[in-house]
Parts: sequence; C-alpha cells; structure tokens
Amino acid sequence: MKYFSTRGGCETLSFEETVLTGLAPNGGLYIPEHIPSLPSNWEAEWSNLGFVDLSIKVLSLYISPKEVSPQDLRGLVEKSYASFRHPEVTPLKKLSEKTFVLELFHGPTFAFKDVALQLLGNLFEFFLLRRNHSKRAGEEREKLTVVGATSGDTGSAAIYGLRNKANISIFILHPKGRVSPIQEAQMTTVTDPNVFNIAVKGTFDDCQDIVKALFADREFNARLRLGAVNSINWARILAQTVYYFLSYFHIRSQLPHGTSPGDIQLQYVVPTGNFGDVLAGYYAKKMGLPVSQLVVATNSNDILTRFWKTGRYEKVDSSSQSNAGQATDASGVKETLSPAMDILVSSNFERLLWYLAYETAPEASEEERRLQTGVTVSDWMDKVKASGRVEVSRGAWVVAKQDFIAERISDEQTSATIKEYFTAKTSYVADPHTAVGLSAAKILAPQNPPSTYQIVLSTAHPAKFSEAVTAALQDFPNFDFDRDVLPKEFQGLLDKEKKIIIVDEPKVELVKAVIEEIARKLV
Ligand SMILES: *Cc1c(COP(=O)(O)O)cnc(C)c1O
Repeated sequence: MKYFSTRGGCETLSFEETVLTGLAPNGGLYIPEHIPSLPSNWEAEWSNLGFVDLSIKVLSLYISPKEVSPQDLRGLVEKSYASFRHPEVTPLKKLSEKTFVLELFHGPTFAFKDVALQLLGNLFEFFLLRRNHSKRAGEEREKLTVVGATSGDTGSAAIYGLRNKANISIFILHPKGRVSPIQEAQMTTVTDPNVFNIAVKGTFDDCQDIVKALFADREFNARLRLGAVNSINWARILAQTVYYFLSYFHIRSQLPHGTSPGDIQLQYVVPTGNFGDVLAGYYAKKMGLPVSQLVVATNSNDILTRFWKTGRYEKVDSSSQSNAGQATDASGVKETLSPAMDILVSSNFERLLWYLAYETAPEASEEERRLQTGVTVSDWMDKVKASGRVEVSRGAWVVAKQDFIAERISDEQTSATIKEYFTAKTSYVADPHTAVGLSAAKILAPQNPPSTYQIVLSTAHPAKFSEAVTAALQDFPNFDFDRDVLPKEFQGLLDKEKKIIIVDEPKVELVKAVIEEIARKLV
C-alpha cells in the first residue's frame, strides 16, 4: 500500500515514509491509495479476536508485509497494548438497553490518545533502529526530535508514547501554571532521559506560536530533524480504526436472544475536536463495517456542526451571534468544559474533504479523477487559509450527510449529562468529553429507528478532568471524588519528583537555545 497527499502531486510514499514525514511538503495530509475492503470471511474469522489480533488483521490491510514483516508487526502491536490496564484494551460498557460506552481511556495517561500514540512511538523507534542498523560505521545515525505544545491533556499521551525510545527525544511546551495540577504532574513526573518538559511563562497560544516558528526555521528543523506527533499522522488514524471493529463484535455478542446483527442499526457517537477519532470510524465504515451513521459531537467550538448544517466550512459563524459573551482566547477558540475539543479548525477534516471531492468529481480515468480531486482540495484549503471559509459543492455536502450527523453540545448540556448519568440506574461517571457524546446520543435517540444501538466513544477518564466532574456533581452528598473516581495511579502523583525546564519569557530564541543545548549533549 502506498500513500499520497490530499493536495495532489504525483509523489507516493511507503507506510514508513508516511509515518516519519507526517505532513506532506505541499501542506496536504497523506491518505492511502485506496481504502482496502475487508476479506470476504472477516465476520466469521475476526469475531472472537482480542484487540491485539484484530489490530494485526486491520493494520495488515494498510501496511505491506514487505515493509513490516508479520512477526515485527505482531511485536509492535503487542508491545503497544501491553501498557493498557484493561485486558480488553478498549472495553464496551452497557449503560442502558441500547446505549453503550466504548471506553478508550485504559492506557497509561487515561485518555484515548494513548491508543494511537503508544503504537506511533513504537513505529518511530522501529523504523529509526532499522535505518540506523543498515548504516556503515562512522555514518551519522538518524534521530528524531519531537517538539509539541500542549494545553494539558494531550502532552502526556505523547510523552508516554515516546518515553525511553531509542534515537528519539521529545520536548513538550506547556504554559507555566496554566495547566491543571494533575495534568502538569502527569507530564513532569516522567523523568526518562529523553523527555523534556518546558514550562513557558506565557499562554498556550504563545507555546503554539513558538513550536510553529521552530518548525518554520528550516535550518534548525533539518539539523535536528523535527518531528510532530499531532493527529495528522496517518498511523494515529489507522490505530484508531481497530476499536470500531472490536466494539462491533462486542455489541453483536450482547444482542438480545433472537436479534441478529443484520436487524440492527449501529450509530457511533464521537466527541470530536480535530476529527481524527471519528475519521477512523469513517475508514472502518468504508472498509465494510456495517455502521449506519457516525455522529460528530462537538462542544461550542462547532465548525464541524455548522459544516453539516450549511455545507460551509468557516472559522467564524457568519450566520449568528449565538455565542456572544463566551470567553475566547486570542485566536477565537472558546474555552469549554471539554478542553481537548477546543479547536478553531479540525486538522483531519481535510482527509474527509478529499473523499467528498473524489466522489463528486466528474467521470474520468482514475488517474485524472485523482488529479482533479487534489486540485479541488488544494483550492478549498487555500480558501480557508485566505478567508477563513469555504463552501463545498452541493453534491459534496450531500455525500457528507450520507455517513455523518453532527450535534453541538453546550457546557450546560455537558454538566447536565454528567449529572444524569451519575443518577441513572446504571450509575456512570462520565468525563466532560464523553458527556458531550452522551448528550448528542440522547438528542438523536428519538429520531432514530427503534432498532438503533448507540455506541458513545468515551475519550477520557473522569479523573483527568476533575474540576468539571466535581462541579457537576457537587450537590450529591453520596459522590466522593477520591473514593469513586480517583485511580490509584493518580494518588500521590502531585508529590512525586518532577523534571521541568522553565523558560522565563515566551520567546522562540530562548526555547531554541534550550533545545539546542540539550540536543548537543544527547549526541
Ligand atoms: C483529542 C481528544 C478528543 C478529540 O479527538 P479528535 O481525534 O481530535 O477529534 C476528544 N476527547 C479527548 C479527551 C481528547 O483528548
């Protein structure tokens, strides 16, 4: 399988090159040359597989065995998911007759990004070791310097994915004092020699700007070989398709006696920010998994919800003033109870745009059609860049509505949903991101055919977002955060030894100097 850029060009890359490159030089994202279909016997053959074996089956459809041998692939997958606390890796829990949650937070940092980043870290290490193994004595070894910025929740998943990996160092910037204590401790108590937390006196935006400037510094970028682990990396999407399959088999095994899988509608509800998680569901559906709809559940940063309503993808809601008064940061992102979904634009949406453009491109040879699609997507993304908005063709919008529904959920609805599920017959403490999904599921349920089962993806453990959870449940005397929610892994975390580098001003040069100095010593 080869990969190419959503913005066209004739370059095709191997899986290895795709994973190590991240973003295409023309600004596009890499997608597979075709979406593989499932083997004809998949339902019978895969139905009893556990996460690891299923992962190998799915990944093998996208990674040629000549690139990663079956034994190597097994080793990588086994190692990646051995760090999960639950034997099923991503267990499915029943909340009511037709509502289930797919818990994706049993990895090392208690958030769903672990599913992808544990694998990505091992893939990076595997490819670099193999490249270095074939170097002659004296030839320089290949290394990777991963640099990223975090507002708290995603930095730790990246750090845990890359800690202690050969030939890789990781520098994560966070705004000093503006990250929740638990999240700060999750990052800074990792003391492996290749992990560096940089606390910048400034805002999250400052941190992001610094990271962007470092990547744009060609000389620095090339010399240190900067790498990114953000969700545009194809391996992250691929890793996430697996739990759609696993949960399908799990729900099948839980259907009431006499109900066959063919009789039900399956709706996946996905709390969405950068559109990575729900895009993985789209790939699963296009491969042949019988999913009736994918629900894009957003918070009030609702660019995606607005897209499905209007066919326009625009940073600023041009049609209403409904959000006046809500706090926004300098870039216009609204601060919500579900901060991991606070985005202005969704980086992975471009991949879906490619498929929408392809399906509505004029009839032509496959090659011409692809060429035309690349041109269309480039044009759309140029418009977004220039004016903050694009309107896709009516046909493309119609196609988008065949697979997806979108719902926007307010903070009030999020809190109310946390309460509602806590007091339900099967009491469940949902984190605010999961609550966005549960809330969307509830809104849609009355419109669904009665045979619809809903699977809500649960993207974080409630202890990671303790403020929102305790605020929502403060009126319940029988709720005790420490007793009911706090995992033993978090106990005492705040008192552990920390490793932090403090940078006194949000200046690129200061951060660059820190990284330079450390990189020199790591040689
Ligand atoms: C990253 C994240 C999301 C959003 O996932 P995308 O793939 O960016 O759509 C949702 N919830 C949590 C807790 C996250 O960390």
